[in-house]
Amino acid sequence: MTTTYESVIGLEVHAQLRTRSKAFCACPNEAGAAPNSRTCPVCLGHPGTLPVLNREAVDMTVSLGLALGCSIRTVSGFARKNYFYPDLPKGYQITQYEDPICHNGTLEIETEQGVRKSVGIIRIHLEEDAGKSIHDIGRETLIDLNRSGVPLAEIVSAPDLRSPAEAHAYLTLLRQTVMYLGICDGNLEDGSLRCDANISVRLRGDTSFGTRTELKNLNSFRNVERALAFEIERHIAVLDAGGTIVQQTLLWDAGRGETVPMRGKEDAHDYRYFPEPDLPAVAVAPERITALREHLPELPLALRDRLAAQYGIPLYDAGVLTAERPMAMYFEQVARALKSPSRETWKMAANWVMGDVLRVMKEERRGFENPVVPAAAIADLIDRVHEGAISGKIAKDVFEEMRTSGDSPAVVIERKGLAQVSDESALEALARAALETHPDSVALYRSGRTNVLGFFVGEVMKATRGQANPAIVNRLLKDMLHGD
Ligand code: ADP
Ligand code: MG
Ligand code: ZN
Repeated sequence: MTTTYESVIGLEVHAQLRTRSKAFCACPNEAGAAPNSRTCPVCLGHPGTLPVLNREAVDMTVSLGLALGCSIRTVSGFARKNYFYPDLPKGYQITQYEDPICHNGTLEIETEQGVRKSVGIIRIHLEEDAGKSIHDIGRETLIDLNRSGVPLAEIVSAPDLRSPAEAHAYLTLLRQTVMYLGICDGNLEDGSLRCDANISVRLRGDTSFGTRTELKNLNSFRNVERALAFEIERHIAVLDAGGTIVQQTLLWDAGRGETVPMRGKEDAHDYRYFPEPDLPAVAVAPERITALREHLPELPLALRDRLAAQYGIPLYDAGVLTAERPMAMYFEQVARALKSPSRETWKMAANWVMGDVLRVMKEERRGFENPVVPAAAIADLIDRVHEGAISGKIAKDVFEEMRTSGDSPAVVIERKGLAQVSDESALEALARAALETHPDSVALYRSGRTNVLGFFVGEVMKATRGQANPAIVNRLLKDMLHGD
C-alpha cells in the first residue's frame, strides 16, 4: 500500500452460540443431523406459532459482553428484519436493532510485533440464524432448516483496525475468547464463526473516514486478510486515478483472488426493521450480570501473561500453550504435579506439552479435555529425567510406550529395562575400555584437541544403548584423561 494512504477496517462477526436448544423454540441445537430433522412449527415459520426466548442464549451473550468490557442493558428488545430468501421461511429474522444487549466494549489485541491496541466493540446483539440453501446437489436448490433459529451473537467492532494484520489479530483473539467462554466452537470452516469486513482508505492525517465497501464470503482468517489486502489496493487505485469509491457489498472470490460486486438488487436493502410484537422485552437482572461476571474464566492474554510470569517460561511458549484453554489447563496440571518444581522443570513441562504431547494429541485427533497421557504421568516423567533416573532421550521412548500401553513411567522403565545407568563402577569400566581401544584419540585429547571428549562419551553411550548417565560419564572420562 502506498504510504500516503491508511486503511480503516471494522469487522462484523457472527458467533453461533452452543446452547442446548435453539433461540426461540425447544428444537435441539446440533449440527450434522439429517436435513430438517431438527425443526418444529416455530423454526419452520408456520403462521400462528409463538417464539419463546431461550435464557441460555441471553446468558451467553451477556458473558461475552462482560468479557469484552461492554455495558449490559438490563432491558433490551427484539426487532424484525424483513427480507425474502428461501432459507428464511418467516420472511423476517428476529434480531436486535436499536438496543442490543451489550454495547460500548473493547478488545485489547496484540499484533505479532507485540504492540497492544484497544479495539472498540460497538455492540453485541442476539439474533437467530437462517437455514441453509444447498446448491451443489443435482439441479434443484435444497433447503435444510436445522440451522433456522439457532442463536447467534453478532459482534460489531468500531472502525479501529488499521491493517489486514490487525484484523487477523482481532479475529484470532475474538475466536479464542468465545472458545474460552465455551459459548461457541469457533469453527470457521463449518461456519460457526463468520466474518464480514468493512474497509475504507483515507490519506494519512485525514480525520474523517473514506467511503467503505463491505466484504462477504470470507470463510477463513487467511481469506479475510487476502480480501482486505486486495480491496485496499483497489480503493487506492480508484482514488489515485481520480475516481470515487461506491459504497457497496462485494463477495470475495478466493479462487480468483479478487472481490466481485454482489448483484445490485441483492445489495439494495430496505429491511423495514420494526419491533418484534411476539416477544416481550429482554430483562437481565443486575444480580444475573454479577453472577455471570463472577463465572468468567481467565481470558487468553491474561492467562498467557500469568503463565509466563508464574512459571518463568518464555512468552512465546505461554502463547502457544494458551491457544486453547484446555491445553493451558493441562500444562498447569503438569506444572503443579511436579515433585521438583523449578524454572528448569517448568520449562521442561512447557516443552513436553507443546512438543510430544501436542503431537500425539493431533495424531489421535483428541482435545486436551481428554488427554492421551494424564498430566500427572508427564510430571512423573519429567521428575525422573530431572533426577537423572533416565536421560531425556530415553524419556521420549518411555513416553511413546506410555502412550500406547497406558502404563506409568515407572512400569514402562522397569519392563523395558530403561533405567539410566548411574552405577559409577560399571561406567568407569566402560570408560576405561573406550580409552584403551582408542589410544590415538587419547593422545589427540592430551595434545589439546579436547573436543575428542564427545567421541568417548558417544562410545560409552553406545555400550549402554544410550542409558548411561551422561553427566557421570563426562566426569569419569575427564578424570581419566587428565589423570594417568
Ligand atoms: P451499518 O449500519 O451499515 O451496518 P455500522 O455503522 O453498523 O453500519 O457499521 C458496520 C461496520 O462497518 C462496523 O464494524 C464499523 O466499524 C464499520 N465501518 C463503519 N464505517 C466505516 C468506514 N468508513 N471504514 C471502514 N469500516 C467502517
Ligand atoms: Mg450492521
Ligand atoms: Zn424449532
